Amino acid sequence: MMSIFEKKNHLQKLKELELISTSIGAHHDYVQGGGGNTSVKLDDKLMAIKASGHILSDVTSDNAYAVVTYPEIVSFLQGTSGDDKSYGDFVSSNTVNAAKASMETGLHTILGAYVIHCHSTYSNLINCSKQSKQLFEQVVSSDLQALWIEYRAPGYHLSKLISDKVIAFEIEHGLKPNILFLQNHGLVISAASAQEALNLHARINEDLIQAFEIESYPEAKLKQDGAILLSDSSYLKQNLRKYSSELSYDFFSRAVFPDQRIYLQNNIAFSTKLENKINIDLKSNTIRYKTNEKEALAIEETLIALFFIINSIGEEDLNYISQESSQHLDNMDSEKYRKQVIGQ
Ligand SMILES: [Zn+2]
Repeated sequence: MMSIFEKKNHLQKLKELELISTSIGAHHDYVQGGGGNTSVKLDDKLMAIKASGHILSDVTSDNAYAVVTYPEIVSFLQGTSGDDKSYGDFVSSNTVNAAKASMETGLHTILGAYVIHCHSTYSNLINCSKQSKQLFEQVVSSDLQALWIEYRAPGYHLSKLISDKVIAFEIEHGLKPNILFLQNHGLVISAASAQEALNLHARINEDLIQAFEIESYPEAKLKQDGAILLSDSSYLKQNLRKYSSELSYDFFSRAVFPDQRIYLQNNIAFSTKLENKINIDLKSNTIRYKTNEKEALAIEETLIALFFIINSIGEEDLNYISQESSQHLDNMDSEKYRKQVIGQ
């Protein structure tokens, strides 16, 4: 049977998907590890979206994306019932190529032609603050089509809430929002063209860098010592020293954003040996990784984002994801899949 998806008919748009994905994926202040996803509507039926388990920089015009029939998914989200399982199954049954669509596919289907969803650390300085909504109103100027979305677990619940909020926004303003701030999570940009999406994404992040007076963002760096992979980030060393009296399993498991839980939970040992994926030695301020380079870098980027958010917001003003929501993240099949793929 011939697939309704013919790559050659959509090549230009797939090349644009590659452009936006690799542009955003090159900056770990925008996405850490396998986080974030991008999409393009190929026509009035098909949408290409980053495949689960891939990093944004993997996306090319013929790799690392899934193609879904999106109007069906829009209708599913407008329905009154659903959960992660029925939503995941529905997205899979509406996927027309062999890839697994991102679990954040739903929120892409209801927005514009080109969508960028990232975990910009700058946006998370607003999203992870106890004053998130007030900060959003102050910093994100009111003439933009911007919308603040309260925390929901990635997957069905987040996509469903965004679907409801986008419909309400359209009724009130007569058009769709093009900037979404997701509490304790990240940023979504929607635009009619790839260049417009990239420009808007750059402008929002620039505004945030200025508003928070950020001078530079720490570098993620690994080094090899014999067979062992170590962190070579001076920022992480400084922070191990700074928080040495507080660092514990609890410190890392109190999540301020979902990927913190995904990459760090149950993976940390305070040890001079290689007992777990992440081995923190507080005496020498060293982090030794027992995993492949791709996952070590994902962890390193996640740790940097976490400390950057804690330092910028201040521990007393941090808004943590509830214990219940954190445990929900631990049990999500889609997250297990994503973590498993990057760990290979
Ligand atoms: Zn996300």
